[in-house]
Amino acid sequence: MRRPLLSFDKVLIANRGEIALRVVRACREMGIASVVVYSEADAHSLPVHLADEAICIGGPAPRDSYLNIPAIISAALISGAQAIHPGYGFLSEDFDFAEVCKEHGLVFIGPPPEVLQRFHDKSETRGALRDIGVPVVPGSEGLLRTASEALRVAEAIGYPIMLKARAGGGGRGMRRVSSPSELQRMWEQARAEARSSFGDEGIYLEKNLEGVRHIEAQILVDDAGAAVCLGERDCSIQRRHQKILEEAPSPTLSEELRRSIARTATDAAAELGYRGLGTFEFLVDRSGNFYFIEVNARLQVEHTVTECITGIDLVKEQLRLATGEPLSFSPEQVWINGHAIECRINAEDPANNFAPMAGTVQTYLAPSGPGIRIDSHLFPGYEVPAYYDSLLAKVIAWGRDRAEAIARMQRALDELTITGIVTNVAFHKRVLGSDIFRSGEVTTHLLDMLGVEAIA
Ligand code: ADP
Repeated sequence: MRRPLLSFDKVLIANRGEIALRVVRACREMGIASVVVYSEADAHSLPVHLADEAICIGGPAPRDSYLNIPAIISAALISGAQAIHPGYGFLSEDFDFAEVCKEHGLVFIGPPPEVLQRFHDKSETRGALRDIGVPVVPGSEGLLRTASEALRVAEAIGYPIMLKARAGGGGRGMRRVSSPSELQRMWEQARAEARSSFGDEGIYLEKNLEGVRHIEAQILVDDAGAAVCLGERDCSIQRRHQKILEEAPSPTLSEELRRSIARTATDAAAELGYRGLGTFEFLVDRSGNFYFIEVNARLQVEHTVTECITGIDLVKEQLRLATGEPLSFSPEQVWINGHAIECRINAEDPANNFAPMAGTVQTYLAPSGPGIRIDSHLFPGYEVPAYYDSLLAKVIAWGRDRAEAIARMQRALDELTITGIVTNVAFHKRVLGSDIFRSGEVTTHLLDMLGVEAIA
């Protein structure tokens, strides 16, 4: 067990954009000095401006800066930071990085390296959860070695199936396959792609579940192994397996199912020795069966909706847990209040197959008023670099119920003005105004199946 510190004096933030800003804000509220590391492309960015200290660590390409472990560790040691918050993406689930932090006497704000390693391999994680009795999507037991093995497993569970890279993430490394001949054709291609994208050709297979919702449980586990679930998020509005709008609580789960998913996540976390903040992800079918898909051992983009309905600041809890302190609340003090929705505003062009856009923001007017929260690093004159993901802003709306949250979100998106760069704001407005979204009966394949144009 780590020796409890009461709090950190100084934390380094190894990330950029809105999430770097989010962590700077949590540190400021806790009286912790913040150090932001940044690439040359982010020199004129809001986290760099608002942090207590900022250190340039390299060129724009991620491998030269946000993935440059020696440069990040040097910056931490030179600045006298005691801990590193990795945000999401980049090094946030990298067990080597967590290990290097430890070797240098720095606290990695996230699960310990051995926990990250255990949950890194999606195929092994599936096996571990299945072994303790958690329902997983039917599929292969471990990695597949040959195309004929894949064909045998697929035959047994039935098509369509999904080939998945064990090291995949962010909606990448997944392929739907609907017949044996397609599987035969795709096999080598899927392996080659996994090798080039993730440096690992390990592939496993799952049944492709149709008509399901993506439901994830937010958990926190302290150093003593006490696990708490802060309810679920529904992230069924996706495009190509990437989340674009999330809400909490899920509009369709029964109380019984909600409790059952929460209990499954906390029991599994406790049994498998999980530590810190994390998310257990499931697919849920119409009959209320749920199947585990993966663990995200980090803060997620959509953590905000959970914060809105619980009133608990997840980044502060993460910082607290990393010092070895217990959580600031007990499970009995968790109250779910109202409904929250998050829209990811991306620099991308829906009319051009959602191609990412770089450019300079001319005007930026953020919405405000009752129930609205904006997490964004935008400002007029901000140059959106082409090197990173396309997230510009998260608009989060809270209401006493779902209808009020939707109405507030629509009002906020009407107020939001971003010019100089193409965004997906109009697309979000169409989703929010559609009957299918308002009915709450959305499934993960909706947008891909109907086509974006169908949301009208
Ligand atoms: P990633 O780590 O890349 O986000 P996930 O395993 O979390 O990958 O899956 C992302 C999304 O892909 C899910 O929310 C779901 O929409 C879809 N998906 C994943 N596995 C399956 C499956 N077996 N059947 C149907 N859809 C799936």
